[in-house]
Amino acid sequence: MEVCYLIGYPVGHSMSAVMHNAAFRELGLDYRYELRPVKPEELGAFVATRLREPDVRGASVTIPHKVSIIGHLDEIDRVARGIGAVNMIVNDGGRLKGYNTDSLGAFQALEEVYGDLEGSKVVLIGAGGAARAIGYSLATTVEELVILNRTIKRAHDLVKGLSNLPDRSAAISAHPLTREHLENAIFNANILINATPLGMSPKTDETPVDGDLLGPNLLVFDSVYNPPRTRFLREAEEAGARTLSGIRMLVYQGAASFRLWTGRDAPEGLMARAVEEELGGGQL
Ligand code: NAP
Repeated sequence: MEVCYLIGYPVGHSMSAVMHNAAFRELGLDYRYELRPVKPEELGAFVATRLREPDVRGASVTIPHKVSIIGHLDEIDRVARGIGAVNMIVNDGGRLKGYNTDSLGAFQALEEVYGDLEGSKVVLIGAGGAARAIGYSLATTVEELVILNRTIKRAHDLVKGLSNLPDRSAAISAHPLTREHLENAIFNANILINATPLGMSPKTDETPVDGDLLGPNLLVFDSVYNPPRTRFLREAEEAGARTLSGIRMLVYQGAASFRLWTGRDAPEGLMARAVEEELGGGQL
């Protein structure tokens, strides 16, 4: 039996366990996925004493360890290095390599619903870990990327990092998250993305954008997946926009992790159904 952990603090009730254990069972793999609360001060010891053991295949990494884990690993994949955060680890014979599959998960979800992203204009709200992963995946494909964040310094830092990408395609700018900047940015945009926790359970009455700024020409993507139908997505739908919930990003980043651990294609449909069921029947 091989183990994959979710390491974070707190780990709470995780959709990843539901999703990965359903997938391991479906393919008859002798793996199990376990939640492991690890406090920041325990991280180094956990990596040294447990994560390198032969029965551990790897781990997913969540808040607050996505950046601090980097110093404890032997190798960091190019994408994760560019983003500056690791969300999964593979243990190969005691050697630990870190990856970021959030980036691929978001890109795959967006491309599936929007189509070819080349030439598109995107507004990204947030400049934390999720926004960095999403921004990294889009900066080399889309035409324009406008980043809006409550703390403008973080948005400027993200623009600086993305602007240095050698194969960057996007014109990238940063603004404070205000109604006026939102209105200007959305006016031109094809895709609007929330990469903040606004609207996440239990504060489901919150939303990053006033509903009257949304319109039918947009694809609106909420990285929040609990609840699957956030206020942001409901109001986007009412405005005639196409919508995409965070479940698809969650499933596709999970599927990429699953492939890296097992070498097998993940049963994505089953993983999505397992998450939807757990969240009470929300839709993709
Ligand atoms: P993070 O690193 O803590 O960043 C949070 C971001 O949200 C920052 O830009 C922060 O702005 C902004 N923010 C927080 N509270 C705000 C508020 N009240 N008003 C305006 N902006 C606010 O968190 P993260 O790791 O990026 O995660 C963000 C969300 O992404 C999570 O809640 C989760 O729902 C989602 N996510 C989804 C997936 C998926 O697979 N679907 C994967 C990862 C994350 P400041 O810089 O001003 O603090």
